[in-house]
Amino acid sequence: MNQTILKLRQTGEPVLRQPARPLSEEEIHSPEIQRLIVSMRDTLRDAPGVGLAAPQVGFSLQLFIVEDRAEYQQDVPQEQLAERGRLPLPFQVIVNPKLTIIDPMPKLFFEGCLSVAGFSALVPRAAKVRVEGSDEKGEQLLIEAEGWHARILQHEIDHLQGKLYLDSMLPRSFMTTANHARFWRDKPVCEVCAALGLNFSQILNPSSY
Ligand code: ZN
Repeated sequence: MNQTILKLRQTGEPVLRQPARPLSEEEIHSPEIQRLIVSMRDTLRDAPGVGLAAPQVGFSLQLFIVEDRAEYQQDVPQEQLAERGRLPLPFQVIVNPKLTIIDPMPKLFFEGCLSVAGFSALVPRAAKVRVEGSDEKGEQLLIEAEGWHARILQHEIDHLQGKLYLDSMLPRSFMTTANHARFWRDKPVCEVCAALGLNFSQILNPSSY
């Protein structure tokens, strides 16, 4: 099978900082967009990653895909999966999304991005969200998500607004993925915060800001 692996744009490319434009229903059905979706899926699986937004492959369009395969989670300890509320997520295409925060209580975990290759950082994200939009057939979608799914959706929708996790991360936690694996990956987030000089309870209690 012929696969097209698209070039992943890295932070600093203007397209990652532009608000993406919505797609018309006619455009969603067009062969160009249908081809783009297939190429984005191939690119995401090749990376591999759990989410990819069109601006990350150079298209300033309100379109993203998600997929968190069971095989990606095989080597992650059970307690980490449970803590993050991370479950296998089938491949899904989301066009023209509108995000509503249902539970704003922040959850704090390390997050990475295919457009900030080789780094990760702690990013607070709302616990529960609703996303309305359409799928690749132009049919209406309504997703309610919590846990890791909610984090992925917020991360991808940020891309469509020209935002990167760099804008909302805790800067003191920004690190190479190699150092994350070497020093921090297996420690509880509260312990990581203490060691990095971050006030964990203040971060998780927005009313104290
Ligand atoms: Zn990203």
